[in-house]
Amino acid sequence: MQKGTIGVTTENIFPVIKKFLYSDHEIFLRELVSNAVDATQKLRTLASFGDFKGEVGELKVTVTVDKEAGTLTVSDHGIGMTADDVDKYINQIAFSGAEDFLAKYKDNANNIIGHFGLGFYSAFMVADKVTVDSLSYQEGAEPVRWECDGSPEYSMGKGERTSRGTDIILHIDKESLEFLDQQRVDMLLRKYCRFLPVPVVSGKEREYKDGKWVDTDRELVINSTEPQWMKKPSELTDEDYIKFYQELYPGEEEPLFWIHLNVDYPFTLTGILYFPKIKNNFDINRNRIQLYCNQVYVTDSVEGVVPDFMQLLQGVIDSPDIPLNVSRSYLQADSAVKKISGYITKKVAQRLDDLFKADRAAFEKKWDDIRIFIVYGMLTDEKFCEAALKFMLLRDTEGRYFTLDEYKTLVEAEQTNADSKIVYLYATDATAQYNYIKAANDRGYNVLLLDGQLDNHFVSLLERKLENTELVRVDADVVDNLIRKNDRKSAGLSPVDTAILSQLFQDDTHKVEKANFTVQFEALGENDRPIVLTQNEYMRRMKEMAALQPGMSFYGELPDSYQLVVNTEHPLVKDIREKADSALAATVQPLLDNIEALNADAEKIRKDAGDKPLSAEDEQRVKDLEKEVADARSAQSKAIADYAAQLPEVSQLVDLALLGNGLLRGEQLSAFIDRSVKLMQK
Ligand code: ADP
Repeated sequence: MQKGTIGVTTENIFPVIKKFLYSDHEIFLRELVSNAVDATQKLRTLASFGDFKGEVGELKVTVTVDKEAGTLTVSDHGIGMTADDVDKYINQIAFSGAEDFLAKYKDNANNIIGHFGLGFYSAFMVADKVTVDSLSYQEGAEPVRWECDGSPEYSMGKGERTSRGTDIILHIDKESLEFLDQQRVDMLLRKYCRFLPVPVVSGKEREYKDGKWVDTDRELVINSTEPQWMKKPSELTDEDYIKFYQELYPGEEEPLFWIHLNVDYPFTLTGILYFPKIKNNFDINRNRIQLYCNQVYVTDSVEGVVPDFMQLLQGVIDSPDIPLNVSRSYLQADSAVKKISGYITKKVAQRLDDLFKADRAAFEKKWDDIRIFIVYGMLTDEKFCEAALKFMLLRDTEGRYFTLDEYKTLVEAEQTNADSKIVYLYATDATAQYNYIKAANDRGYNVLLLDGQLDNHFVSLLERKLENTELVRVDADVVDNLIRKNDRKSAGLSPVDTAILSQLFQDDTHKVEKANFTVQFEALGENDRPIVLTQNEYMRRMKEMAALQPGMSFYGELPDSYQLVVNTEHPLVKDIREKADSALAATVQPLLDNIEALNADAEKIRKDAGDKPLSAEDEQRVKDLEKEVADARSAQSKAIADYAAQLPEVSQLVDLALLGNGLLRGEQLSAFIDRSVKLMQK
């Protein structure tokens, strides 16, 4: 019996392994089964090269739970180990066995290299004693038994195994009894070993008989050894892809389409990515791509490996070139990983372009479902954005789709403004903005529908990407001025009428909370609406963007700003103006004149003083003048307010405009209804 100390420099490595090496103890099973599969694959390779001439036999890996004995055993019929091998590969853990093997089978060893470093020793995360029973494939080999209780001392001697292969027997420790539960073990095997290339058997298949579950005598094979992503795309039908998707994500709607990835150079990568129906709340779909390394499940958190927006996709990526068990930040800096990420992006863009070219109608049908993915990609990935500009579709409010070029051709003639800029009009809510969309359509303009979650960012992106083009929301101005072709028509109001009407309308807007209104007069034509509410494009966007920025909620909470555009050519407005003019002009005009004169006097005093400070006497005079101005103003304001009190028409018009924008609610809405009824009874 050989005794020795395991060749590590640290006095006792096991506590370290237990605590720090792997955060997830359950992955010991992945490590041991992977080793067993590797040993099996190695035997296959040796046999195919003629270096192993014996009986290969049935190659499978068996995981057995023995609750009574308190053991979990992983057995294989792989190449096994001699005492020398155990010494070299297990005792000298710094020595990587894979390297030796790789040197010998350089060109064909790709799928048999272990990638998990200290894999075998992860057994000590869950076991207080580990026994290895092994018989090497080599002619005349002696069985070997190795045992270690988690201290750096091991014992090694002659074993009893009579058939080629290895048993790794874990004596499960008290904290890890869950790994003696057959169902838990099956579950873990399904998670990590579902697509391993060698059959993995875990106990027996079970059936429901006489009111309970019982074992049959058929072995339960956990995995499918030839997953679809390892096959050639030409071997697979659409049904195969869909079936595989449903295997991966049971109970989910059919995917929209998929991409089969397959590269050997400059890195190795296979996989199938699916486009699920994403819709708007895409956060829930994250972390759904599964990452494999030579068919061994590694993780479903692929950040860093695929660009952020690709995490909305589902499916499988398998690559031995992605360094595992390393930190995320390391992963992101790794150049191989960067290449992989770039490759996947390119592939996805290509596939979308192919679909677009192959069948435009089918592409349009899927467009609404994939749009958020594409927009997200365009916003976050420069390269993807460039590619996507070719197949990006714009949808108008009538549900028609256009490429960027098509759309430009469509609107160029009608929607170019006086500065030779093409103006794309858009709506963010087809129902709420119906009024404005209709007005624009009646004018011969087309309106895009940009109602997606990311569309305020997307609007700015389009402006950056499209030459000489500006995007304006349909309610940004009255339809005449949305695409300004010549100067605004003068509203034709006298100063006194402007003063009176401004206050009449302004006073009526105070009832809306969290909103500011600026009254503006425009001669829009007698057939246009008497009042239109607009929201300046620039201001609105600033506010929306600010609100989305973390820590900037202050801006988001600022009131909305509206322009209350009063159409001076509308008969109702004309009528209000004429009546107000005859009722108020005689009072307001002298007040206005007086205010003007007083202001002029004060201005003159200041001017005469030049750069010098005002004398005490002058200062008093200016103060008196200012007070007189204030008095005149409040007299004017009171006169107009008194008049307004007996004039329901202004309130009625303002309310109609508010109503058209969903701003009239609660008490104000109720007052409006009562007033309307009264007006009808007149
Ligand atoms: P790695 O798999 O990364 O090389 P491990 O610690 O998991 O690291 O295993 C060390 C070595 O021990 C393996 O490379 C292999 O040579 C040997 N080994 C482990 N398990 C088995 C097994 N079931 N059959 C044959 N050899 C094994």
